[in-house]
Amino acid sequence: MFTAPAPRGLARSQADLPPVPLYRPDSVAEAIHALDTAPAPAALYAGGTDFFARLREGEAPAALVWLDRVQDLREVGRDDHALRLGALVTHHEAFRHPALDAVPGLAAAWRRIATVRIRRQATLGGNLMARRTRYELSILLTALGASAQMAGADGTIDLPVEDLWQADTATHPLLVSVTVPLEGCPRLDYERSMRPTFTQALAMRDGGWRLVVATEYLRPWAHDMAPGTPPAEATAALPADFADPAVSRAHMVRAGAAFLKRQIERMEAPA
Ligand SMILES: Cc1cc2nc3c(=O)[nH]c(=O)nc-3n(C[C@H](O)[C@H](O)[C@H](O)COP(=O)(O)OP(=O)(O)OC[C@H]3O[C@@H](n4cnc5c(N)ncnc54)[C@H](O)[C@@H]3O)c2cc1C
Repeated sequence: MFTAPAPRGLARSQADLPPVPLYRPDSVAEAIHALDTAPAPAALYAGGTDFFARLREGEAPAALVWLDRVQDLREVGRDDHALRLGALVTHHEAFRHPALDAVPGLAAAWRRIATVRIRRQATLGGNLMARRTRYELSILLTALGASAQMAGADGTIDLPVEDLWQADTATHPLLVSVTVPLEGCPRLDYERSMRPTFTQALAMRDGGWRLVVATEYLRPWAHDMAPGTPPAEATAALPADFADPAVSRAHMVRAGAAFLKRQIERMEAPA
């Protein structure tokens, strides 16, 4: 189990950022080259909604690589096998995109994230790569069994989204896209009424369900189960140490089972 650390250090502002070189690559290859050649440590900048919080927490980049010109990172599309989401797509662009119809429930869950202003600026890549437990796309995409395409100087690797939390980004620093497999016709329901205390996503596919529970401080916990598993049995599988200062495991087992019952009913209701 991972518990997010408490904020530390003196509060700073963007005024504390000394002038640093700015790189504005036009392609993924140029972005990787910029990261390799810029003074270290170089920071990637996407929508910038998390960036200034990072400065206040003490991050001190020696260079910025601004991704806004890399059009390949903005692509969203689907075929029979997968839904592909570019890392630079904003929350606002994502939930309105017709390709998301491939996964019923995903757009409805995504559109509830953040505020109107933030949704137009904040990106999928920034939400995942900020690696903050209070951000939610990791929960939804873990439930859907999504993979992340990470690029580096020696090519691109595929990682399960849940592995991004501990991924070593030294060799493959750039998230290019996220792919949601469409085998088994996945659909999603997201229970967010208890946020930030805890939230719960359920993905159903032919042949298997996946439950994901997360809290403000705990990384998502994913549980694969057979269709028809009783809700109380599913949430009772929460690890013994899955609790944080704001919510006990016993509460998540109990309330989570009640939520899960409702989620199953919603997802199995005739359209
Ligand atoms: C007021 C407010 C309310 C919010 N509410 C919610 C909410 O309800 N739910 C929720 O989930 N989130 C919420 N957020 C978080 C928001 O969704 C994230 O801040 C946002 O998605 C980050 O994206 P960005 O493009 O702005 O990232 P940036 O600030 O540009 O970057 C964030 C981090 O990700 C890295 N990064 C960015 N893109 C890439 C990439 N392609 N490859 C590798 N690393 C990359 C950067 O280097 C940086 O470390 C909220 C934020 C604010 C400010």
